[in-house]
Amino acid sequence: MAARSIVIVGAGAFGLAAALELAHRGWRVTVLEQGAVPHPDAASTDISKVVRMDYGSDALYTEMARRAIAGWETWNAQWERPLFHRDGFLILTREAEMPAGGFEQASFALLTNRGMPLQRIRRADLAQRFPAWNAARYGDGYFNPNAGWAESGAVVTMLARRCCRQGVSLHEQAPFAGFLERGSTVCGVRDKQGGEHRADCVLLAVGAWTPFLLPELRPLLRTTGHAVLHFRPEDPRPFSASNFPVWAADIARTGRYGFPANADNIVKVAKHGAGLEIHDPAQPRSVTEADIADGRQFLHESLPALADAPLAGTRQCWYGDSTDGDFLIDHHPGRRGLVVAGGDSGHGFKFAPILGALLADVIERKPHPGAERFLWRNPRAGREEARHI
Ligand SMILES: Cc1cc2nc3c(=O)[nH]c(=O)nc-3n(C[C@H](O)[C@H](O)[C@H](O)COP(=O)(O)OP(=O)(O)OC[C@H]3O[C@@H](n4cnc5c(N)ncnc54)[C@H](O)[C@@H]3O)c2cc1C
Repeated sequence: MAARSIVIVGAGAFGLAAALELAHRGWRVTVLEQGAVPHPDAASTDISKVVRMDYGSDALYTEMARRAIAGWETWNAQWERPLFHRDGFLILTREAEMPAGGFEQASFALLTNRGMPLQRIRRADLAQRFPAWNAARYGDGYFNPNAGWAESGAVVTMLARRCCRQGVSLHEQAPFAGFLERGSTVCGVRDKQGGEHRADCVLLAVGAWTPFLLPELRPLLRTTGHAVLHFRPEDPRPFSASNFPVWAADIARTGRYGFPANADNIVKVAKHGAGLEIHDPAQPRSVTEADIADGRQFLHESLPALADAPLAGTRQCWYGDSTDGDFLIDHHPGRRGLVVAGGDSGHGFKFAPILGALLADVIERKPHPGAERFLWRNPRAGREEARHI
């Protein structure tokens, strides 16, 4: 029997993870990417992404992240150098006691019930163990050693290299121009270079660009921009991973989270929130003076030693936000042969090691634990503005 064929549009974490897994399963795989791989504007292209199991009371993402962390360790063992750093995750709240039912307390409770060796961090512990923090401001929290961060851009490069070694045909500078269709069946893709790529199936894995290519998804999906700040402190020692692990500071209220200094002594600080709605895929990306001032204000209050550090760079990164914060991974209900993977909502990268099997099972219409959560849907009542921290 001839190998089944697929065209995947988009070479970010979702597209490349699917490509690698499908190639392993014997599919003939073509990947089209609008620019270089990794694309500078892709959400997956950055210096770091948080990898954590801490998802409040959400058992599905907690379990998926537990499996993903095992996957990161497996990948680390196969790569020339580790790209996942298990430096732990510090979660802080300003209250004297983690508020019941809040993100911090719910995560602590769920993970403790699952036997995770979490370490409670009270004000005195914070001052002693993580001295960069203004302990006067944070009363309670915990440290989870089973977490860390991944060098996301480098991971994309590594996945692309593995895909090519696995026989995937990767086309850079090949922007999507339209679907090839026979009636209501999608049978391939045209690119803007005039190329036609016919296949049994098409996977659209264009992340935050999805609602621009499939406007019918607009009720559920929208694109939002988020400011990322890269600082380079003159003395990076207070921000080395052993003193300063990945963190989230009263995140439900501040949106603030960040990373230890990386090999280039860059300390990344970001904000998880509603973001700026993006209406045009060609909209220039910029981080404003107000974004920077807002970031420095937070640092003055919480991490004074970093507040006046020179900025090494900034980045406006786009979420493919779904109204309920859940991914969308499903066959298009009205266009046979088309599968869509989007709705990352700012929290998808950590799952890269398990995304391939999830996407391949959905494409092959095989059962997969939790996949029913990502089915094609209208905005879920009562979850209009839900956001996964
Ligand atoms: C500021 C920020 C911080 C984040 N932090 C975290 C974190 O700490 N932890 C975490 O787990 N997740 C995090 N995320 C989310 C994570 O980055 C995404 O979930 C993940 O990278 C999405 O991968 P993707 O493959 O769907 O999209 P992308 O990585 O954006 O890839 C989509 C690809 O499609 C290509 N493309 C687009 N249009 C076309 C076209 N017309 N033709 C061809 N190709 C096209 C793009 O160039 C791109 O390469 C963050 C996201 C942002 C924006």
